[in-house]
Amino acid sequence: MKKLILLVILLGLITITLKSNANPIIDKQKNKLIDSVKKVQVDPVCKMKVKAGASKNAVYNNVTYNFCSESCKQKFVAEPAKYVKK
Ligand SMILES: [Zn+2]
Repeated sequence: MKKLILLVILLGLITITLKSNANPIIDKQKNKLIDSVKKVQVDPVCKMKVKAGASKNAVYNNVTYNFCSESCKQKFVAEPAKYVKK
């Protein structure tokens, strides 16, 4: 009988372990989904990651570029060709 009780406890522990391991995987997939929705772009001036749709952006050759700060935007607006790859 003792063996049976131990087996039940062991099965319970395995189930808990599997459940706690499964959750982070689901969270990772959720985060990937959220990231693709947010559309992370790169600041062409300082190469920092910036969220698309940020308030600091400029349009050059019909492409919208996002910037981390007003100073990066000003640098880009002054010489856009310097930062845009041809
Ligand atoms: Zn920047």
